[in-house]
Amino acid sequence: TTSPGTQQIRTVCSYCGVGCGIVLDVATGPDGRRRVVKASGDKEHPANRGRLCTKGATTADMLAAPGRLTTALVRDDRGAEPVPAPVDAAVRETARRLREIVDEHGPDAVAFYVSGQLSLEAQYLANKLAKGFVRTNQIESNSRLCMASAGAGYKLSLGADGPPGSYDDLDEADVFLVIGSNMADCHPILFLRLMDRVKAGAKLIVVDPRRTATAAKADLFLQIRPGTDLALLNGLLHLLHENGHTDEGFIARHTEGWEAMPAFLADYTPAAVAGITGLAEEDIRRAARLIGESKEWTSCWTMGLNQSTHGTWNTNALVNLHLATGAICRPGSGPFSLTGQPNAMGGREMGYMGPGLPGQRSVLVEEERAFVEELWGLQPGTVRADGVGRGTVEMFQKMADGDIKACWIMCTNPVASVANRKTVIEGLEAAEFVVAQDVFAETETNAYADVVLPGALWAEAEGVLVNSERGLTLARPALDPPGEAMADWRLIAAVAREMGYAEGFSYDSAEEVFEEIKRAWNPKTGWDLRGVTYDRLRTGPVQWPAAREDGPSRNPIRYVDGGLTFPTPSGRAVFHARPHMPPAELPDDDFPFLLNTGRVQHQWHTLTKTGKVEKLNKLNPGPFVEMHPEDAAALGISDGDRVEVASRRGRAVLPAVVTDRVRPGCCFAPFHWNDLFGEYLSVNAVTNDALDPVSFQPEFKVCAVALAKV
Ligand code: SF4
Repeated sequence: TTSPGTQQIRTVCSYCGVGCGIVLDVATGPDGRRRVVKASGDKEHPANRGRLCTKGATTADMLAAPGRLTTALVRDDRGAEPVPAPVDAAVRETARRLREIVDEHGPDAVAFYVSGQLSLEAQYLANKLAKGFVRTNQIESNSRLCMASAGAGYKLSLGADGPPGSYDDLDEADVFLVIGSNMADCHPILFLRLMDRVKAGAKLIVVDPRRTATAAKADLFLQIRPGTDLALLNGLLHLLHENGHTDEGFIARHTEGWEAMPAFLADYTPAAVAGITGLAEEDIRRAARLIGESKEWTSCWTMGLNQSTHGTWNTNALVNLHLATGAICRPGSGPFSLTGQPNAMGGREMGYMGPGLPGQRSVLVEEERAFVEELWGLQPGTVRADGVGRGTVEMFQKMADGDIKACWIMCTNPVASVANRKTVIEGLEAAEFVVAQDVFAETETNAYADVVLPGALWAEAEGVLVNSERGLTLARPALDPPGEAMADWRLIAAVAREMGYAEGFSYDSAEEVFEEIKRAWNPKTGWDLRGVTYDRLRTGPVQWPAAREDGPSRNPIRYVDGGLTFPTPSGRAVFHARPHMPPAELPDDDFPFLLNTGRVQHQWHTLTKTGKVEKLNKLNPGPFVEMHPEDAAALGISDGDRVEVASRRGRAVLPAVVTDRVRPGCCFAPFHWNDLFGEYLSVNAVTNDALDPVSFQPEFKVCAVALAKV
């Protein structure tokens, strides 16, 4: 029910990639100012059907939080206090400095670091400005820390990025394999949906080094040694084959590369896999039987597989299981990567990492460059194929080395969120010009900026967000942005026009940008928004591929039009033999423990938003490091003691939580709390930035540390 004078705005939650539909109740006060008084779940939205987790449900508190940027901030000297400045002047200064650096040092001296929290329109314009007009391929996003391995793995196994199935599979699977994902805490609304199915009889297998809230609900919990997932996945395929649970017809019709697999898998006997993973042989056999005997099975994964030096291979090995059992592209079955951020999927579609171009294209393919040049009204040869960046870590390293001299950071907080963060700090200190664009004034990264531009929150502007299952929801303005804050896409377009690119950036509305984005339709991968309009989105979300306006709003299974065909050269999905590799760092005498990092249920990323919500701070009040009772006893550490967590790269000091949730020899710390909350809280001072050589994603999840009471 709505109180008199209250307006309801249907929009989307801005936190995680589940992309829950949300209804904001907006009241107008006696002073004429609008404020959000309540957030509730949208019963009509297919992602959540009315449910919200604590983060989404406290949206009204976050929207009312103090500390918003209402003007730009600028400072003339590093070390000087930033002073408020009109946005117009800050936009002019940003454009002047970027232009100056391009003219003096060439386009590769300018970098963009963008975010899965930007709208689709802002992501598109950032990439258009970088690759089409500044002509730098130095554009990266925080998805590099998150979903890069899943994206790279999907492309190699299935031919294109993005999940083949959808959330609907959670309603129809008989068995779930949740691996490297604490869904209960990090994607709670999807986990509730999965548990509805488990309560109706489906079986849940959870693989995690830590006994998480997700593991607590498992029928079979495999508490695996960190970094050994490939051995387990290969071991499961070995058993599926041995037990006769492979689907020979599907393999013959729809895949390639199977012939090499039996010989490759011969080494992954249950005994060998038990030796590598630390799991019981019988548990491995039981997991293989559950999967093999199921009618439909779905896997869900996130950072546990992705944030690894072999994250791409982890995705390939998991997809192998689906291909071998034929459990893909049919209701209830498929490999489903859960995205972290509300529009990380959209960003990947806009090509906002490395060589990407809009519509799942790449600068490395000549005809795709030509297509995008035409879309952007550019001369042939404008979009460059050279100088492609190799990920977030390399970008900040290049800044530290002096090769990149200017960086524009949008809607993300790399000083807190990048593994081995000292590279980021060195990079920002060395850069001649740093622009940060954010909504709140105080973030760890804004402290390093020469110019801070005030962004509008998603509830203050129009724009599209694409969730984990390819679903587009229109974010709609419930409030006016405070002061001079404005939509991210407007700030990008304003700087671009000031740089002299008015011909490519004169838009009146986000809708106009969206209409241009649609023209990047890609028949090769099936990415297709042609049937989506803002008007249609005003009536509810639409899932791509959506070719026609009068087509269905749900398109839950890809690749099935006209018979199952994958977007690979042969039309078949590809088996990849991916041998087990150890993580980049293993324990030794100096650093005898393994550190794992992650999130807690009621906080979000680096606390720029949830850290301002009292209710959430009560539920998850502070940082900690979990360690096993045997290790704590050996080190003389008790609950609450301050513990130094030190690696080869840096240290954090965190209060101890002694618990057998973690394995002996292992510890776990959330990455939410950073400099704004106290000294030495940043666990990313400790984590490892060793990279997956295919996806360039850092190995946040495993590094060797020493623990000591301080
Ligand atoms: Fe928001 Fe994610 Fe919670 Fe849904 S599950 S309410 S999208 S944070």
